Amino acid sequence: MTIEQFKERNGYEIEGMWLPRVTAIVAMGSFVGAGGNSFWSRTAFRNAAEWGTITHEAVGQIVCGRACKIAAHIAISIHAFRQWYKANPFGVESYETAVERRVFDPKNLYAGTIDMLANVAGEYGVIDVKTSTAIRKEHALQTAAYLNAYQQTAQGGAQYTKRWILRIDQYQECRGCFAKRREKYGRAMTSGGKQICNHQWSQARGEVEFKEQENFEGDLEKFLDQKERWEQKNGAFLSRISNYPKNIKQVSLFS
Ligand SMILES: [Zn+2]
Repeated sequence: MTIEQFKERNGYEIEGMWLPRVTAIVAMGSFVGAGGNSFWSRTAFRNAAEWGTITHEAVGQIVCGRACKIAAHIAISIHAFRQWYKANPFGVESYETAVERRVFDPKNLYAGTIDMLANVAGEYGVIDVKTSTAIRKEHALQTAAYLNAYQQTAQGGAQYTKRWILRIDQYQECRGCFAKRREKYGRAMTSGGKQICNHQWSQARGEVEFKEQENFEGDLEKFLDQKERWEQKNGAFLSRISNYPKNIKQVSLFS
């Protein structure tokens, strides 16, 4: 990997600085980031990422009351989200200010993009949209990093104290053994159920999960620990990035 590729994949340029991004840091040590199993071919990974991107776009438009065209392959899960959102609405100020909001932490030196800033039943916080098959522990580290950055830098950021994961999924289920089959990876992935079963797949159905994450302080600490490990692992690259603030600080110490 060249230094330019490393910078592109792992960070953002903000106000003349290069800062590592939250998703790169939390991916380290996760199932996918570690290489995972053989299912995670480059194509499967790219398809899942594309699915995630268009789902994020659709959800952002819907909560801002904008009309949007939904790609056929995600329509089932977006329909489930619309139904859920009717019963569980939350407030989003505007698409420009509250959707895909770029933030950075000037003290701990990382950057990221908050999916949505929201008011949920009178409480303010960040929502991260997931299209994974379950909520995973690294998601809590990610939202803690976002919330902390927003609190540090945004006007009125202190009133934002909550974190939620909004998980949107769709799958077919075997009527016999309850195995689940998902197509978001470009080819079908089957999980659970019985190994030996002549699966009878149902129609695809959508699923929405909305979960508050507790223990902000603890999760933030874990994120910052992981960031340190990430920096150690990638030290050879990081030392060559001239506008990475940690390098600039070192220079000024000795000059
Ligand atoms: Zn089955």
